[in-house]
Amino acid sequence: MASRPEPRPGVLAIDAYVPGKSAAPGVPKVHKLSSNETPLGPSPKAVEAVQKAARELELYPDGAATALREAIAGKYGLDPARIVCGAGSDEVLNLLAHAFIGPGDEGLFTTHGFLVYKIAILAAGGLPVVAEEKDFTADVDAILAKVTARTKIVFLANPNNPTGTYLPFDEVKRLHAALPPTVLLVLDAAYAEYVRRNDYASGLELVAESDNVVMTRTFSKIYGLAGLRLGWMVGPAHAIDAVNRIRSPFNVNAPAIAAGVAAIADEAHVAAAVAHNEEWLPWLTREIGALGLAVTPSVGNFILIHFPANAGRTAKDADAFLTSRGLVLRAVGAYGLPNCLRMTVGGAEANRLLVKALTEFMKPERANA
Ligand SMILES: *Cc1c(COP(=O)(O)O)cnc(C)c1O
Repeated sequence: MASRPEPRPGVLAIDAYVPGKSAAPGVPKVHKLSSNETPLGPSPKAVEAVQKAARELELYPDGAATALREAIAGKYGLDPARIVCGAGSDEVLNLLAHAFIGPGDEGLFTTHGFLVYKIAILAAGGLPVVAEEKDFTADVDAILAKVTARTKIVFLANPNNPTGTYLPFDEVKRLHAALPPTVLLVLDAAYAEYVRRNDYASGLELVAESDNVVMTRTFSKIYGLAGLRLGWMVGPAHAIDAVNRIRSPFNVNAPAIAAGVAAIADEAHVAAAVAHNEEWLPWLTREIGALGLAVTPSVGNFILIHFPANAGRTAKDADAFLTSRGLVLRAVGAYGLPNCLRMTVGGAEANRLLVKALTEFMKPERANA
């Protein structure tokens, strides 16, 4: 007999998600470049909406988040009935796993896929199955090779975090076409707004014409509302129905709903964030590459920097070196990338400081190297 309540089998085998660091002890000014947050902050209109909503905190929110679903539907030309909002897209991803995966079922994702997928699959009692990537990029054939009669969900972040790579829409369509109709394809398009490639699409078209594709989106990244926790999904009626049955009735709070509506209306703010990224993403890729460090080509608002294995130059060394200068990047060992750090595209000052610090870090005469 156990002497205390025990979680059901498997729960304690889950490694909890470890968020990016935010502190650099003893450093006066910290630049947090560890969680892909926008350096531009939220839209002032969203902030105003939150302040207004703060005056009515005694009231329950609209459990259906109607105003927000209508705003999203209006922006993307969708049916609001096909949208579910969540406390971040993390919640939506978890709801999908819990709705479609049970004990013995398999959930698929790729080698360096977003860690939340694995946690959500395990939490639902399922079996995580990993498909090998090629050049840090999802590989459709490798994914298809891992599909079995037990596969219930394929999670695909496009673009992927932490690699920043993406699959052209033709490849996503090829993946979908070859999947059994019983497998749900979850397209996580958290960084879609940042992508500037003619062959990319977030997947709305595929969602519209399929019975087994959903897309998830977030307000945490380009909209700068990570602290409020707001995300959404769009999908076929049957999937929306399933998720609505298991989500908590008031999963999205009132200030978040109000902020989301205001943020969607502020298109200039999003455009400014895109322009900022278009300026600094290539600059960082080039400058850091010129130091002799490999940078995986990214279409998101972050880059994956590869460090050598020799003592004094490792990702761990770089992390310590940069942190001591107030530059906080993301260690990605948990993603199977122990020799890499992920850096969010920051503001101009942070980006310049980062390149300066890495230049120093890579100097041949630096002690210890
Ligand atoms: C940041 C991120 C999300 C968004 O998570 P939220 O819960 O909406 O903050 C989803 N997927 C990927 C791949 C991400 O990097």
